[in-house]
Amino acid sequence: MLILNSPEVTQETCVRWKIESQVALVPTMGCLHEGHLALVRRAKELALKVVVSIFVNPLQFGPNEDFKKYPRAFEEDCKKLESLGVDLLFYPTVKDLYPESFATKVSVGEIGHRLCGAFRPGHFDGVATVVLKLFEVTACDFAVFGEKDFQQLTVIQQLTRDFNLPVCVVPYPTVRAKDQVALSSRNNYLSPKEREAATQIPIAFKLAQEEVTQNPRQTVEELLKKISPLLTSQELKLQYLEITQNRELLATQPNDCIQSLILPHLFVAVYAGTTRLIDNLSLKGFIYEKA
Ligand code: AMP
Repeated sequence: MLILNSPEVTQETCVRWKIESQVALVPTMGCLHEGHLALVRRAKELALKVVVSIFVNPLQFGPNEDFKKYPRAFEEDCKKLESLGVDLLFYPTVKDLYPESFATKVSVGEIGHRLCGAFRPGHFDGVATVVLKLFEVTACDFAVFGEKDFQQLTVIQQLTRDFNLPVCVVPYPTVRAKDQVALSSRNNYLSPKEREAATQIPIAFKLAQEEVTQNPRQTVEELLKKISPLLTSQELKLQYLEITQNRELLATQPNDCIQSLILPHLFVAVYAGTTRLIDNLSLKGFIYEKA
C-alpha cells in the first residue's frame, strides 16, 4: 500500500491509474472501525484501484468541538487497510490540504443550516470543501459514503450534482454493533455507563418502526412524543429529534401525517456525557397501506 501526503503526487498517481482502471475513494477521519472497513470492501467491488483518505478536517469542526482530541490511530489504521488490499492511503497534513494561500470554500446552502447544521454552523461547508478537494486529488470515479452520516451523504450528493462532478456517490448502510448501536470513532470516548445509555437510540428506533407500521396515519408530533422520552435520561441529553421528508431532507410540520410524507426519515442527535452521537433511520420501509 502506497502512503502519500502530497496532493500533487497523489493526483499524478491516480490520474496514471485511470488510464487502465477506475478509482474508488473512501474518505475517512481515521480511527477505523468495522463501519469504515465495510466501505472499503464495497470500494474494492466497485473499482480496481482503491484509495482511502485519512484526514481530520479542521474546517468542519467548530471552535468548541473535538478537533484536537479526535481519536487518532494511524499505525493500526495502516495495518487494517493493508490487510484489505487498499492501493493508496492519502494522509495529508493540514498544511498539505490548506496551505497559507488557500482561500476558496464551498457553501452548501440551506441544507447546511438544518439538522446537525443548526448546531454546527459551517460544518457542512467544511465537509463539502474537503470532499471536493479529495475528489479532485484522487480523480475518483466512485466515492463510498456511510448512511450513518445521512445528512453528510445528502450534502455530497447535492455537491456532486451541483458541480457536475464525474463521481458516482455510493451510499453504504450503517454498520451496527450487536446491540444495534451505530459504530462510530467517537464511541471510543464513552464510559461504560454512557455506552450502555447509547443503546436507547436503537431502542427508540425500534419503537418508531413499530409505531409507524401499526399506525402510519399518526402525525409527526404524535410519533416524536412517543419516542423522545426514551432518549432523555441521566446519561442522555437529546439535542434534536426530527422527521424530514424528500431526498433533500426537508422539514416536516408537527401535524403532517407520516404516511403522506415522501421518504420520511428520522434523525437524532444526543449527548452521552460530553460525547455527541448521531443516528438516523429511514421510515419508508415500515409504512404499509392497510387494506
Ligand atoms: P468518519 O471517519 O467518521 O468521517 O467516517 C468516514 C466514513 O465512514 C463516512 O462516510 C461515514 O458515514 C462512514 N461511517 C462511519 N461510521 C459508519 C458506520 N457505523 N456504518 C457505515 N458507515 C460509517
